[in-house]
Amino acid sequence: MVLRMSRLLLKTLRDDPADAETASHKLLVRAGYVRRSSAGVWTWLPLGKRVLENVSRVVREEMDAIGGQEVLLPALLPREPYDATGRADEYGDLLFTLKDRKGTDYVLGPTHEEIFTQLVKDQVSSYKDLPVILYQIQTKYRDEARPRSGVLRGREFQMKDSYSFDTTDEGLAEAYRLHREAYVRIFERLGFDYRVVSAVSGAMGGSQSEEFLAPAAAGEDTFVDCPACDYAANTEAVTAVVGEPESTEHPPAEEIDTPDTPTIEALAEHLGVPASATLKNLLVKVDGEIVAAGTAWITGANKADTHARNVVCGRDFRVDEYLDVATVLPGDPCPKCGAGLQIDRAIEIGHIFQLGRKYTDAFELDVLGQNGKPVRVTMGSYGIGVSRAVAALAEQTHDDSGLCWPREIAPADVHVVAAGKAAQTEFALELSEKLQAAGVRVLVDDRAGVSPGVKFTDAELIGVPNILVAGRRVGEGVVELKDRCTGEREELTAEEAIARLAAAVRN
Ligand code: ATP
Ligand code: MG
Repeated sequence: MVLRMSRLLLKTLRDDPADAETASHKLLVRAGYVRRSSAGVWTWLPLGKRVLENVSRVVREEMDAIGGQEVLLPALLPREPYDATGRADEYGDLLFTLKDRKGTDYVLGPTHEEIFTQLVKDQVSSYKDLPVILYQIQTKYRDEARPRSGVLRGREFQMKDSYSFDTTDEGLAEAYRLHREAYVRIFERLGFDYRVVSAVSGAMGGSQSEEFLAPAAAGEDTFVDCPACDYAANTEAVTAVVGEPESTEHPPAEEIDTPDTPTIEALAEHLGVPASATLKNLLVKVDGEIVAAGTAWITGANKADTHARNVVCGRDFRVDEYLDVATVLPGDPCPKCGAGLQIDRAIEIGHIFQLGRKYTDAFELDVLGQNGKPVRVTMGSYGIGVSRAVAALAEQTHDDSGLCWPREIAPADVHVVAAGKAAQTEFALELSEKLQAAGVRVLVDDRAGVSPGVKFTDAELIGVPNILVAGRRVGEGVVELKDRCTGEREELTAEEAIARLAAAVRN
């Protein structure tokens, strides 16, 4: 069906919404894709729903391709399983909680590890039934503290979550590998610029975990990126490089006069040494620049205006525990190749975890093994922010005039603009039918009484990949075809335009 703007539930706005800070928030609202319902809760309007569905379709196709089976679980869930795993406490205020009329506690699901584990426990009894990958594309609820950036961070949002169940660690590693590859295909097809980074597991628990990040100024995550090798990591997960142990051939520790040096900077300046030669003491724990045994330090001497020099780690003091508390800074050495790291902002669009047995232990999920004995199942969980992906793509692809969708997820392939006169509108509508018949998805601006200038501005704002103008030369059968992203334009016959667009859609 040709989408006709004269009938479409669409009202574009000239001004940015007052509370909008990010480009995607401003543009998705102004172009009529989404509309705020309440803080962090959004209505998807016809154009937005199409984009959301396109993202879901790509995700679904690639999940099906790795053997995932789609299910749909409720969003309204008993609280009890989340208490059993301790996650209700871990999520804390993030968890939406409610009671039914009998006083039973419920939650609105923030993610479904508990419920999938229970589902599999109920449905699966033998190793022969495994491995299995289950997924859903479903509404999630998190009472986010700062739901500011439109659908980038909603309190209600769409997530694809999948869960793998295996009897062996090798099986889990294989399910993880399949997901990683599927995610690469998904984010390629969606047209993302993205990086895969190692991540800390956080509230999920478990071992191996990677995030898919879309670099963007509006992102709330920071990640380190090595310009020289393929190392990339969430800043929280960067492993610090510990210096090589030095010899212990240092002169004995000695006290030195250091009046008026309350800060590391002042002390380093007074003594003419780099700050990294000094050691800061916090209570009984040592919180130094990265410490290696055998290194000589300058530190406080427990006396006013005095410091001690040549205090040697392993000789003059002992380290009980090394904690990786260092914050990585731009230019710090890459843990893999030593080159200077750079730090960038990004949006988390996907996250994959090898959970192991955290949840299967909590619910005692065993199956009968090959030898007749019960085997504890091991599990992975894998998420994609489907609604967030729409906004993240808008962040990465927009320009000064508006949105600029990659074809795979655009709400239409071509935006046909009828410049205004009745004959132009008639021509545009006929052309639209022919395009649609050739497999090209059409949005046609057939509105009467709207100036060509407003129509062109709206077409740029809405961001369909091609704009086709039925204007001055429709009498000769000639139209203008414009590429929304590059701005290139050329005049063609209607037949040439149809052939050109049909070919672009097939690619
Ligand atoms: P964040 O750190 O951004 O809060 P998260 O690490 O808590 O995200 P996960 O539990 O890993 O999120 O959820 C899987 C995916 O769901 C994320 O990678 C992200 O794309 C998406 N997502 C998470 N929270 C939101 C939200 N509030 N709004 C939209 N999408 C979200
Ligand atoms: Mg995450």
